[in-house]
Amino acid sequence: MPARVDIAIIGAGVVGLAVAARLADRGDDVLLLEKYDSFGQETSSRHSGVIHCGIYYPPGSLKARLCLAGNRSLYDLCSRYGIGHKRLGKLIVATAENELGQLESLLERGRDNGVAGLRLLSPAEVKQLEPNVAGAAAVLAPSTGIIDAPALMKCFLGLARRGGIQVAYRSRVSRLEKLSGGYRLTVTGDEGDFSFTARLVINCAGLHADKVAALAGIDIDDAGYRLHFCKGEYFSIGSGQCHPVKRLIYPLPPADLSGAGIHVTLDLEGRLRLGPGVLYVDRIDYGIDARHKRLFYDSARRLLPWLEYEDMEPEMAGIRPKLQGPGEDFRDFVIAEESSRGLPGLINLIGIESPGLTACPAIAEYVAGLVGRL
Ligand SMILES: Cc1cc2nc3c(=O)[nH]c(=O)nc-3n(C[C@H](O)[C@H](O)[C@H](O)COP(=O)(O)OP(=O)(O)OC[C@H]3O[C@@H](n4cnc5c(N)ncnc54)[C@H](O)[C@@H]3O)c2cc1C
Repeated sequence: MPARVDIAIIGAGVVGLAVAARLADRGDDVLLLEKYDSFGQETSSRHSGVIHCGIYYPPGSLKARLCLAGNRSLYDLCSRYGIGHKRLGKLIVATAENELGQLESLLERGRDNGVAGLRLLSPAEVKQLEPNVAGAAAVLAPSTGIIDAPALMKCFLGLARRGGIQVAYRSRVSRLEKLSGGYRLTVTGDEGDFSFTARLVINCAGLHADKVAALAGIDIDDAGYRLHFCKGEYFSIGSGQCHPVKRLIYPLPPADLSGAGIHVTLDLEGRLRLGPGVLYVDRIDYGIDARHKRLFYDSARRLLPWLEYEDMEPEMAGIRPKLQGPGEDFRDFVIAEESSRGLPGLINLIGIESPGLTACPAIAEYVAGLVGRL
């Protein structure tokens, strides 16, 4: 490991990798640090794999802006580098008449956000597009899709390496100390501790981004940076079912946008699954509570009346790094250069939950803009 680099990126999830690939374009001297022995071992491999369209988020928020920009960039990247994806489109379905007002408000919000191609569908149009979905009406979002996220991460890693970026695995950043003109990072690895300096530090540590910010001396409660772990469980719909859907099928989201509601996603092989739920937890544990199957079933049956309880199996879980605590209001992504806290050159990315996968190329562009000013 070098004694000094210009830029250190902490965390090789999809966001850290996207940032590394983007900075490689500029020819910067960058070291990407990851505590595991490979990339994408945490949240970036435990999600729905959906390229979101940007309909849900408050207009003007980073989530709305970066999701929209990321959506376009991801499709471009997929075409340019042959990354597996499908632009399936999605339906957001009102299952009862009394949900129509909420559906129309969502449509309006999506249009305010600049989401292209949104259309309100009548029950007959819902039936025509998705004969196996029950709905009083729906919004069609044609720019929603799915992506092979591991292939995207490999692509970013390849671009980063080709641009000369070094990657250090088994390297957990355990200390971060402000110096004049930069930072000293201490990394705990297989062979003990090692220190080096960097002019700029970019914190892409996902579920641990608040702890990394705290290492630099930030009071995370004061700053509003404390993360809450929010588990999302998935149940697969087994091969016994014979009523496939062609698009992603979502209910209306909860008013606090704590999740998108238990929905039906497809993977690139056409397998169906239900999820993710919203469950605040105290620690990182990817186990699935089989007792939640009934809740998933009842919720999904409103959209998929043919669903059989026996067809559902626990599949996997992911954990959202959420700034929004239980019962609290919507919180936006934090992407902040910390000069105002006396920490110039430290860029924190905190609360990068959904739509972080979709937004990652746009997040990288945004971070590159901050780096360009330093
Ligand atoms: C259930 C669920 C469903 C989702 N579905 C979608 C979706 O369909 N579409 C979408 O756009 N988004 C979705 N998301 C969000 C998306 O998965 C995340 O926003 C994205 O993966 C976050 O990437 P990241 O790189 O910030 O974090 P991570 O993937 O968690 O990467 C952070 C990395 O930092 C490393 N690290 C942490 N601390 C240190 C340290 N001290 N030193 C060194 N390394 C460290 C970790 O090991 C990890 O590899 C979903 C999330 C969840 C949980």
